[in-house]
Amino acid sequence: MGGFGSGSYVRLMPRHARVEEMRRFDLTDLRRRGYLSGDVRLMKWTARAGRPAVAVGIVALESGVLFLWRTAPNAWHRIEVGYCFSQTSFGFKRWFCCPRCHQRARVLHWQDHPGQMACRKCYDLRYSSQSEEPRWRADRRAYELRSRLGSPDPANQEFPTKPPKMRRCTYEALRAQHDEFRQIWAQGMCDALSAMNRRAHYLR
Ligand SMILES: [Zn+2]
Repeated sequence: MGGFGSGSYVRLMPRHARVEEMRRFDLTDLRRRGYLSGDVRLMKWTARAGRPAVAVGIVALESGVLFLWRTAPNAWHRIEVGYCFSQTSFGFKRWFCCPRCHQRARVLHWQDHPGQMACRKCYDLRYSSQSEEPRWRADRRAYELRSRLGSPDPANQEFPTKPPKMRRCTYEALRAQHDEFRQIWAQGMCDALSAMNRRAHYLR
């Protein structure tokens, strides 16, 4: 990534946390991974980048999902998120009902505290405006690719190794796409830096 120290990257990052780096509960994913099978299941996040490890208990209810977590040995918290339904040609599709805006959402996010769970729109009006900038969109899509390939830490920009079941040509195609996104991002950052330098020059 010649020319970019991590310092420049951090300084030029938007001030808000990015949605894709927030902790998330994806309803489809929870179901597929068996979290909604009936028992209390624990979802764990390891400590990373100054954020503590967290375990959240997930209990499937008829009307929604109950999330339980602990902030101190005897301090338990709970939030119950109801379901919303939309009609499809096959019947009904189930969604989370965002605790804040009560609109349907497939994914709920939280940053540091599961009690403040909300949908992307509630949390982050900045996401859509930011993603209009090609460099941030490319950065996000590179992140999504790494995460799709099962990277344990997709914020790390290294391209993950090939998942055992993926075909080599698919993997190579994804890698090429990833390189392209990184290139767009790097060019965008270069342009942003030059623009900043020009402004600084005028102000002198
Ligand atoms: Zn919402």
